[in-house]
Amino acid sequence: MTARPPLVLTVAGSDSGGGAGIQADLKTMLALGVHGMSVLTAVTAQNSRGVHGAWELPEDAVRAQYRAVVDDIGVQAVKTGMLASAVLVETVADLLAGTTAATGVPVVVDPVGVSKHGDPLLAASALDAVRTRLLPTATVATPNLDEVAQLTGVVVEDEDGMRRAAGAILAYGPRWALIKGGHLPSGEEAVDLLTDGSEELWLRAPRHDNRHTHGTGCALASAVASGLAKGLTVPEAVRQAKAYVTGAIAAGFALGGGIGPVDHAW
Ligand code: PLP
Repeated sequence: MTARPPLVLTVAGSDSGGGAGIQADLKTMLALGVHGMSVLTAVTAQNSRGVHGAWELPEDAVRAQYRAVVDDIGVQAVKTGMLASAVLVETVADLLAGTTAATGVPVVVDPVGVSKHGDPLLAASALDAVRTRLLPTATVATPNLDEVAQLTGVVVEDEDGMRRAAGAILAYGPRWALIKGGHLPSGEEAVDLLTDGSEELWLRAPRHDNRHTHGTGCALASAVASGLAKGLTVPEAVRQAKAYVTGAIAAGFALGGGIGPVDHAW
């Protein structure tokens, strides 16, 4: 009998094209040597050109999947991604508060808002629930700059702005904020900021001009959750996750007629 790998649960939406969402999460987890499990929140009809349809699952189906995993198998880290609606954000926040808060299981919240193609993955009416219900459950919240603007109103144009963004996100209660500056217009580096309000870690990686970056955010959050499930500290989990995603972006490949995925298995 071989040793059991660490257990990681993703609560997220499906991407039929296999580049983002649940599919990206499970591929990342496999690549990083943890056992991935999934609670599906929504199904998207999606390819390299964009999201062509999205259907959220009933609240009961989300609850039942979560309970099935947690009550029998257990989890050592949870990652949340696309939650689609206010009802599902509240449902997932309740489930997380009821289990992970009591047991100290780390939670990585990727507050997914809009896809790279501009397709909405979260109803505007759900933003308040993300701020007041979901973010407080997070060990690490991983917004990109668009999500920062949506959630806090802070428009980031430089590294000082990233610091302000982190403060605004931390005010909603996550223990750490990882602000992803990949969308900053300037600079030859992809710069992210991880902070808990006292410790500050700037992560810099060369920016690749590869446009096949579909699913980057999903891979990063899943990699952080995988590291935390292995027992790494938050800064070390984020450092290793950034290195993994930088390699996955460098190896991203063309698929279909639009934007291809990062290579989770690089
Ligand atoms: N589809 C799903 C189900 C997602 O969860 C996400 C991002 O979290 C996306 C699509 C968007 O991916 P990207 O913006 O990297 O294209």
